[in-house]
Amino acid sequence: MIELTTTEQALLLAGSFLFFTLLEGIIPLLQMKYKKIRHTGINLFFIVTSIAVSIPFAFIAVHSSDWVTRHEVGVLHQVELPKWLYVIVGIMMLDFITSYLPHFVQHKVKWMWKFHLVHHTDTWVDTSTANRHHPGETVISMLFLIVAIFIIGAPPWLVILHQFIAVTFSQFTHANISLPEKMDNAISWIFISPNMHKVHHHHTQPLTDTNYGNIFSIWDRLFKTFAKSDVSNLTYGIDTYPDQKEHDNMGKLLVIPFEEYRAPATPPDQGDRDFQAKRKPSLKIIRTPIPSQQ
Ligand SMILES: [Zn+2]
Repeated sequence: MIELTTTEQALLLAGSFLFFTLLEGIIPLLQMKYKKIRHTGINLFFIVTSIAVSIPFAFIAVHSSDWVTRHEVGVLHQVELPKWLYVIVGIMMLDFITSYLPHFVQHKVKWMWKFHLVHHTDTWVDTSTANRHHPGETVISMLFLIVAIFIIGAPPWLVILHQFIAVTFSQFTHANISLPEKMDNAISWIFISPNMHKVHHHHTQPLTDTNYGNIFSIWDRLFKTFAKSDVSNLTYGIDTYPDQKEHDNMGKLLVIPFEEYRAPATPPDQGDRDFQAKRKPSLKIIRTPIPSQQ
């Protein structure tokens, strides 16, 4: 089952990556001048290391899932739900415990942040950025997944279904694509939209600490971490690693978690004034390049 899951997940990753890369060519959000192949190469290196690191944890996860199902352990075994509601509730709980919660914690706990910030150092956010996670962050994510399986009592098929949806959403929300304003807004009422997640990739606080969700936006709305901002006002990356020599080099990125913690250059109260501001209606597909992203 592990081999099957890993193979299918790799195929889905490759398929959705190609689909959103094509879409980026048709409806780009920002015209970013960067070495796309080199950039993609760095980010794909991280997915290869992540898959390698996650294999033993995936083995534990599948067996844990099998065990909780046979012994009827976990929240889902305590209630009788119609199948469709069972699937929705199960996916929502998995989304909360394996995405929103660990993401929030990684932004608050300094040693965890140093692993996660490798993802945030990307100054050219596109669909490949979805895969840019330090192997150490992958270990943290897999531990949250195993805990989630025991709390929820998620059967293997539900865990696999959630993983497929989560991977696709991550590629979708990082993709450098411009959806019609109304469509993006409508999506963001229940799900994470591409524009919503771009706000999370702004280089300074307080926007970096908003929009933590992966599939559902309801967690951000519920816990007041939801934010909107005009995408054309955003600058991708992280203010503590503005030097390209540090964020565009594989060796440097791998050792970031073991370097000294760097406090945000911009204190939260001096962050962007457009925090929580509503986006102005705009249907322009191509926006003028942001100077710091050239
Ligand atoms: Zn983050």
